[in-house]
Amino acid sequence: MTRVLRTRAELRAALARAPRPIGLVPTMGWLHGGHRALMRRARDADATTVVTIFVNPRQFDQAADFGRYPRSEARDLAICAEEEVDLVWMPPVEEVYPADFDTRVSVGALAGPLEGAARPGHFEGVATVVAILFALVGAEHAYFGQKDAQQVMVIRRMALDLALPTEVIACPTVREPDGLALSSRNFHLSPAERAAAPVLRRALLAARGRWEAGERSGEALRAAMRAVLASEPLAEGEYVSCADAETLAELERVQGPALLSLAVRFGPTRLIDNEPLPGPAG
Ligand code: AMP
Repeated sequence: MTRVLRTRAELRAALARAPRPIGLVPTMGWLHGGHRALMRRARDADATTVVTIFVNPRQFDQAADFGRYPRSEARDLAICAEEEVDLVWMPPVEEVYPADFDTRVSVGALAGPLEGAARPGHFEGVATVVAILFALVGAEHAYFGQKDAQQVMVIRRMALDLALPTEVIACPTVREPDGLALSSRNFHLSPAERAAAPVLRRALLAARGRWEAGERSGEALRAAMRAVLASEPLAEGEYVSCADAETLAELERVQGPALLSLAVRFGPTRLIDNEPLPGPAG
């Protein structure tokens, strides 16, 4: 039975009786197969699965983007029930941020480039809400998607630095058959944009193919991604990156593990994706 909780007090009371270990899956709702995969990982490894559904206003740098983020409680709860989630915390905003709330988690260099540069304040908002969720739930494990690769890195760093006892576990990106990464934002794509959206994956795979063929110039790999994006008129590339997998610094030469990533706009809808390049031994 899936139980739905709204307040901090209800959540705490339910958790006090919950078998351990606890697995936490933080989400913003409009759940899809990517979220389901995280729930299944938690269900397999943990005695209690907790899903949080909260569209966090602090991680949106644009009010319009927050306003149009898709929401449906009934749809999300049906999916949580199907996935046999034990507890769903769906708080109103004042349960997360009480009126006198006055603290921010300040994130460092890892949050600087890529999504951090494109969306000022985004990772501070993410880190702040995740710190609250980690503190409230006290889970042994928390599951995040590799689709938001920089987010996982920032949160893992935060958990280490602040000695938060929740282990951060990254799970593979779940994709549509045509390669498009599942995302709540795909909902906004027009049919023509949806047909064009696999260009993100094609660009990443083109660069990966060049890397597999021996190309080690970061700029050549970025250019390979740009060339594929340029072939799709509906896609407006925002950034392409070939960065060090640990520091996210842009690479001149790829000599160890790297992360290919990109952000692309289709009209008002912004999509991201990435592809890790293993190191020489990987
Ligand atoms: P969101 O609801 O978009 O904030 O995402 C909640 C969690 O689901 C985050 O850890 C995301 O990285 C993860 N996630 C989103 N899309 C996917 C996907 N296609 N595959 C795997 N995980 C995902």
